[in-house]
Amino acid sequence: MEQRVASVERLREVTVIAAAAGIGAPDSRCAEGPEHLLAGGLVERIAQRGHIAGRGATVRAQAMRGRTRLAVHRGFCAELAHETAAAVKRGALPLVLGGDHSCAVGTWRGVADALGGSLGLIWIDAHLDSHTLGTSPSGMLHGMPLAELLGVAESHHAATAHATLSPRNVCVIGARSFETDEAALLAELGVRVIDMEEIEAHGLDHAFDEALEIATSGTGGFGITLDLDALDPADAPGVNLPVGGAGLGLAALRKVLAERGLDPRLAALEIVEFNPYRDRDARTERAVATLIDAIFGATAPSVERERFFCAHNYEPLPAVLVRGAGSYVWDDVGRRYIDMMSAYSAVSHGHCHPRLVAALVRQARTLAVTSRAFYSERLPAFAERLCELTEMDMALPANTGLEAVEAALKVARKWAYEVKRVPDDRAEIIACEGNFHGRSIAIIAMSSEPQYRHHFGPLPAGFRQVPYGDAKALAAAITPNTAAFLVEPIQGERGIVLPPPGYLAECARICRENNVLFIADEVQTGLGRTGKLLACEHEGVHPDGLVLGKALGGGLLPVSAFLARSDVLGVLKPGDHGSTFGGNPLAAAVALEALEVLVDERLCERSAGLGAELLRELRRIASPLILDVRGRGLFIGVELDPRMVTAHEAALVFLQHGILTKDTHDTVIRFAPPLTIERDTLDEAVDRIRGAFAELDATHARDARRQAPMPA
Ligand code: PMP
Repeated sequence: MEQRVASVERLREVTVIAAAAGIGAPDSRCAEGPEHLLAGGLVERIAQRGHIAGRGATVRAQAMRGRTRLAVHRGFCAELAHETAAAVKRGALPLVLGGDHSCAVGTWRGVADALGGSLGLIWIDAHLDSHTLGTSPSGMLHGMPLAELLGVAESHHAATAHATLSPRNVCVIGARSFETDEAALLAELGVRVIDMEEIEAHGLDHAFDEALEIATSGTGGFGITLDLDALDPADAPGVNLPVGGAGLGLAALRKVLAERGLDPRLAALEIVEFNPYRDRDARTERAVATLIDAIFGATAPSVERERFFCAHNYEPLPAVLVRGAGSYVWDDVGRRYIDMMSAYSAVSHGHCHPRLVAALVRQARTLAVTSRAFYSERLPAFAERLCELTEMDMALPANTGLEAVEAALKVARKWAYEVKRVPDDRAEIIACEGNFHGRSIAIIAMSSEPQYRHHFGPLPAGFRQVPYGDAKALAAAITPNTAAFLVEPIQGERGIVLPPPGYLAECARICRENNVLFIADEVQTGLGRTGKLLACEHEGVHPDGLVLGKALGGGLLPVSAFLARSDVLGVLKPGDHGSTFGGNPLAAAVALEALEVLVDERLCERSAGLGAELLRELRRIASPLILDVRGRGLFIGVELDPRMVTAHEAALVFLQHGILTKDTHDTVIRFAPPLTIERDTLDEAVDRIRGAFAELDATHARDARRQAPMPA
């Protein structure tokens, strides 16, 4: 509980003020920066983090005939100062979104006034902004605000009585481009400047701590002004005057702001010099969002609550999804994503398919759960259609994939004892290395993944593993006690791993020859995912047992089944196995409709056609990060070079580009959109994926340059 109370105490009232002027910069279009950021949902973003956030005034430069630029600037700053002062006096934290940095004069005069004069300031900037009208080579006002705030308005090096800031409470962070005049002025006044060289040597954490100390000692509060050109141009290209050389890394700045940004003494915040016209791939806009998240708490209240009340058995990517339709989902701040993983293929029909939602609602209003203590009308209708489509004799309904796999294991064992006549308790089941069939106690006994097994023992006996893709190894592992061979036609969770051609057919032949059941786990590959109803069909294999799940529930409910020949499933007698919810009327009605939609909308054919195109397009992306692109139908894995990037890092970048996907096994990113995805949406997804790779490539190239040894 303590943790939550602490986070509630950090909540602030935030007033976002747009200082929409660009008179101080050569490219005045930066005046549109604040509106652009606001239209992108910045206020909502802060509110979603639990703060009381609202839009304050928009202050513009009032150009009038006969007024000099300086006079216009003064009027603008006076108005802005009035707004920031009012916000601070109200107890709110003003967040000023500026055009060019000359607005700082207004922002901080107002804040200092409201605080009674003693304000500290952390000035994060590539420049020193300490020219005066007399020393500025360009005459541009955005090169002067710090000098002016320190009371140095003209060319002489002495503070006047109008100083807003005391030099001993000001610290500049990240400077990398300045004139000697400016540096001399700040040195003379005693302003601490921590330049990029010093930051590279000692780290940004260190610099920020020192700045915080300077800005808060003896002051009534402090502010942070962030000129976006302080960031590395690779992270924030959309600034007024891009500055060469390595700037602050977005990740490093995010980290310090997340840890120390929302200090209770923080009185105001200012972000300036965003120029939307120069913002390639909206990268700078995203950087601003990242920094806002960092300062105001990246964790939405629902994230904090989930972490507090739910076991940490997943590591979700940072998006709180609130709505879905077809291949799109939206998060809690209204960002739209293309779903390229479909909940591990459970959402093959797309989100909230209208026919499936209608079937769900209809049945829910009629009869939902009966248990199998009675007959129902819906279960046989569903089971019959499923058996017909998969050419199986019987189905055992269950809920999740894991349960259906468990049922398959039990049935295979009983079949071995009662039909094959294996001696009691000697039955063996062969699985493949690298498999994923779920994480129950029995299933992890088949797993080769140490994490799934570690400290969950003792594990049941009777399982063996053979290398995946090696039919000879299967033949060698079979004994007279072997009941079944359990195999995924493509190993999904291992990273979309395809076996060599002919493998499944050869294994099926070996099983037949040895009276061993060939059981295909098509929980993920089944129901059109790979371009055919079952992935086994690619090799003309008809399995003895078949496990289905995920998409069987139409993306609405957990529905799974184990299907087999009647001589196999026939071994079960009443009481041998069961599930209260398995095959309930609601699940059966939705699953039956899911099968009809699959047929009516030709989802297998769509998967084959669109999958081939997606595979081709992904293979055309020339990125040094990509080692392999493989898959079948709309079930595609992109293997990344782990020396350059982890799949998790990549998934985060994809998320920022509006693509939902998930890493699997450190090195593979999967692309498995709903099979209903429209052509246009898939094209858009490919464009975004290309953009994400371009960003990953650029980031990697920059990191590589930084790590390269300096020439002697
Ligand atoms: N088998 C396979 C092949 C799977 O991919 C999965 C889930 N990823 C399962 C079984 C387990 O399914 P569930 O999570 O629904 O229990």
